Formats: sequence, structure tokens, C-alpha cells
Amino acid sequence: MDMYSGYIGRLISELSVLPGIGNKTAQRLAFHIINMPAEQVEKLAGAMTEAKEHIRYCSECFTLTDREKCPVCSNPARNRKQIMVVESPRDMTAYEKTHKYEGVYHVLHGAINPSLGIGPSDIRLAELIKRLQSDVDEVIIATNSSIEGETTAMYISKLIKPTGIKVTRIASGVPVGGELEYIDEITLSRALDARVEL
Ligand code: ZN
Repeated sequence: MDMYSGYIGRLISELSVLPGIGNKTAQRLAFHIINMPAEQVEKLAGAMTEAKEHIRYCSECFTLTDREKCPVCSNPARNRKQIMVVESPRDMTAYEKTHKYEGVYHVLHGAINPSLGIGPSDIRLAELIKRLQSDVDEVIIATNSSIEGETTAMYISKLIKPTGIKVTRIASGVPVGGELEYIDEITLSRALDARVEL
């Protein structure tokens, strides 16, 4: 990397900390950025710092939002007695696109993954349990159907069962290993309709 000037080297090394960006991609992006018009680079940099400054976690469901509560949680028409547990804000967006779900969400921001050292306390599980103290009829577990997603689903179901709240899991219309955000809306709707009680 030292074949480049300090500025380019720094840009490449900053870009390569992003997920999925290896050194080669980081170099390509760096050169692309350098060739962009100055005002476009400023826009990009501004969008990053402003997003970081203004975006926060919804105080109820923990998705990312720029207000205290996200649009779903601040909508009085949503059914607060039904909570769908998802791994990421992207999964929540995927379900919102189906326009079939009228409950609210809980975003875990990850899944239990012992091989990466991610345990129950590293995701927003305690926050979910706290939410269950209010009047909740059903918790729908919509974590991915990966090993981590299934492990998380089992863990949550064991945790909630003693409270007597109904726990369901979205049906396996979602392909094994499938990530929710890449699945089409019809499949997602079907998976929700065909959910099974745990
Ligand atoms: Zn929310």
C-alpha cells in the first residue's frame, strides 16, 4: 500500500475496514472517489457524517431511525400486542414491504453465534424481554434460517415460554440459510401466514 501517497493510502485503509471490502475493492473505490467531482465527494462524506450524527435506535424496537420512535412504533394503528423479532433493520424493511404485517417489531442487531463469540448479551435480547412486561399476545420469531438464526430462535423461545406468551416461528418457506432481505415479498408473506407455534 505504501506505493501510494499518504492520502491515498489512508483512504484505502479507511475503506477497507468496511464489511465485504477487501484491499483490492478498497483500492478501486479510492481511485473512483479521487476521480469524482469535488462536490460529489463532499456530498458522500457529508451523508456519512450526518447519518452517524442523526441516526439512532428507536426507543421501542431498536431499529435505526432519525427520531425518538421509528415510523412503525409511532403509528397508533399498529398492533403492539404482536412483536416480530428480526435480526436487522433490513429484515424489518423486507417485512414492511409485504404490507401484510400489522404488528410491531423488535430488532436484535445480530444473532447468537458462539463461534464468533456473540452471546445472548451481545444482541438486544434483554430489551425484548423488558418489552414483554407490557401486554403482549404473540412473539413471532423471524430470524434468518441460518444456524445462527435458528440458534437464536430456540434461545428466545425457551426464554419466553415460561411467561405464557405465545411464541411462533415463521414457516420454512424461507429457504435454509436464506437471508430475509433477499427473499421476495410473496414468500415472506406466506412464511408469516404459515408460522408455527414453538
Ligand atoms: Zn420502532
